[in-house]
Amino acid sequence: MSEQDGKVAGELEPMPSAADAGAVPAQEQPGSPPSAEKPQPERRESKARRTGAEKSALGKVDRSGGGQRTRGGKEDGKRAATHRKRQRVMVDSSKAKTSLEALKISIKQLNWRELPVGRRQPCDIYWHGVSFHDNENISSGQVNKFPGMMEMVRKVNLSRTMRTMHELFPEEYNFCPRSWILPEEYHLFSAQVRIAKENDSSWKPTFIIKPDGGSQGDGIYLIKEPHDIRLMGSAQAKPCVVQEYIPKPLLVDKLKFDLRLYVLLKALEPLEIYVSREGLSRFCTEPYQEPNAKNLHHVFMHLTNYSLNVHSGKFIHSESTNTGSKRTFSSILGRLAGRGVDVKKVWSDIISLVIKTVVALVPELKVYHHAEIPPGRPGPTCFQILGFDILLMKNLKPILLEVNANPSMKIEHEQEVSPGVFEHVPSPVDEEVKVGVIRDTLRLVDPVQRRCQIQLCQVRLLCHRMPLVPADTALPMQASSSLLLVSSRWAHFKRRDPNDPGASQLPSLCLKQVFPKYSKQFSYLRVVERIAVLFVRFLGVKGSMRLGPTAFRTFIRSCKLSSSTLSMAAVDILYIDITRRWSCLATDQRESGMCLQAFVESFFYLAQRRFKLLPLHEQVVALADLCDRHLEALDERRLQCGRGAVERRTALASCQPGRSSSPIHTPEPQR
Ligand code: ADP
Repeated sequence: MSEQDGKVAGELEPMPSAADAGAVPAQEQPGSPPSAEKPQPERRESKARRTGAEKSALGKVDRSGGGQRTRGGKEDGKRAATHRKRQRVMVDSSKAKTSLEALKISIKQLNWRELPVGRRQPCDIYWHGVSFHDNENISSGQVNKFPGMMEMVRKVNLSRTMRTMHELFPEEYNFCPRSWILPEEYHLFSAQVRIAKENDSSWKPTFIIKPDGGSQGDGIYLIKEPHDIRLMGSAQAKPCVVQEYIPKPLLVDKLKFDLRLYVLLKALEPLEIYVSREGLSRFCTEPYQEPNAKNLHHVFMHLTNYSLNVHSGKFIHSESTNTGSKRTFSSILGRLAGRGVDVKKVWSDIISLVIKTVVALVPELKVYHHAEIPPGRPGPTCFQILGFDILLMKNLKPILLEVNANPSMKIEHEQEVSPGVFEHVPSPVDEEVKVGVIRDTLRLVDPVQRRCQIQLCQVRLLCHRMPLVPADTALPMQASSSLLLVSSRWAHFKRRDPNDPGASQLPSLCLKQVFPKYSKQFSYLRVVERIAVLFVRFLGVKGSMRLGPTAFRTFIRSCKLSSSTLSMAAVDILYIDITRRWSCLATDQRESGMCLQAFVESFFYLAQRRFKLLPLHEQVVALADLCDRHLEALDERRLQCGRGAVERRTALASCQPGRSSSPIHTPEPQR
């Protein structure tokens, strides 16, 4: 990590470590909340709790009726119950797939309503197991997937995205292993490895090959030499990523392990990111040795995937959170703290990695979002839980292995209970972590809370504008009473309805906000996002994700980027060159035109030409500033023209004989 990284990381809030880390108050520790606060994973228990609480709610109605169950009291109780039922948040779980079990438990704990078969009327939340499109034509509510996320985190795309960020900020984006994209970069890869070996004869690298779109370790293998890559003829070659293999991972019990952390991307605009304080550590099942010709094929030694290691005879199904082949992350931190490791620093570095990765993903997600749900059209809002796979190096530096758009939310596993007999048995470690993540995601996107917050903001805004409103209008009174009303609703929400049995017993959130909380440290990295905003502005056609040649010319003209040294003919050639190259790389070739990545490349090119002596990111920022200035001026001119046109039209209308300004008289049609 760079010095700057260290500084940034050092300033972040440390993760409360496991009990033996002893650095934070007990109630803050992940995975070990006080028993009273522990989420209740047992479905039966949740039901029992709900029944009890419902009884107590009824009891309340009785008591208010003077201890007697009067008819009115009964009806009031019934009405209140119906009202509560109607108010309960509805979650469509019909497309939840493998996350269904964990989702069901979460909904029960919150005392919300599950709609297991969906329904025709709009729902508050749609829980999808795969992608944004699992349910079609959703026009309101919230969906737990962003359009385009699956495509963005595929291995090839993620490598490209991280590479762009590394180009701009090499010091900050140094947490991904060096990668090449095959087959297109095979020769580059071979040449770079050869040169590096010539320069340093002691360098004996290993590389890991990962097929694009693969998961669960499928098709992954290790090589020592570039010519060992199993490339078919380039026409059939499937895209994959070749990466430098991290030869010295941190070991626990002599085993390699990785971390699965859950990250909630709650909103793109404004950007909101939460990180789960608890995660999973997945262990290899064969003691680790640095790769050599003999052990290169030992998947149980080198690959930490659960789906692979579960088939090794040495896989231990965890009985508790700190034993076996799948443990909680906090239990690892506890072990590390016991070894004297600065776990706060480790956690801060991880948060830093997460924020930087999400910052890298956001620009293209915004383009997908704009294409899928264009502004002004009805559509749902989105949020998404991502699974971050992170490897700790021996020196404790976190390395990003991959991002999963659909992290497994299964809370049970298949186990051979007697020879040849398999059963699905609950996995306590999975349940503890995953139910917490889903439940707290739901709490954070709670539509009731959202509505309250939005109303409160609106009314506050109105009250702020009060001095501008003439004193004789009735608005101030209305606004202040609205503010009172909404504030009291909000306060009520914050106190949580005592009749809501789930809410009062829930533990504190396991998801912690990291953005905008740490926006000051990371906002300067959001440069590509500015380019994406420009890209979207010039896209023009609704639903499109590609820029046509005319739109590119309009961009150049509007931002006044052509000059005596960059003619419009040169601009056209630039467009054709870059677009053609990126079109060859695109997996989805249905749409023609310039994709965001190609636009970013041309933007870098234009920035480098214009601001020669600066480092790349300063060149790009300078060009983005320039574009913004020109576009603002253009908007201002258009606004004035628009205003002028309206004024001219009004003036013209009032000059016409027989036309008064109000009401507008429509002449009778001539017979
Ligand atoms: P998949 O999506 O198929 O699980 P990953 O990128 O997560 O692919 O890789 C699978 C496993 O391989 C990881 O869990 C990790 O144990 C190991 N691995 C992946 N990349 C590297 C690397 N660069 N260095 C060392 N180990 C790696």
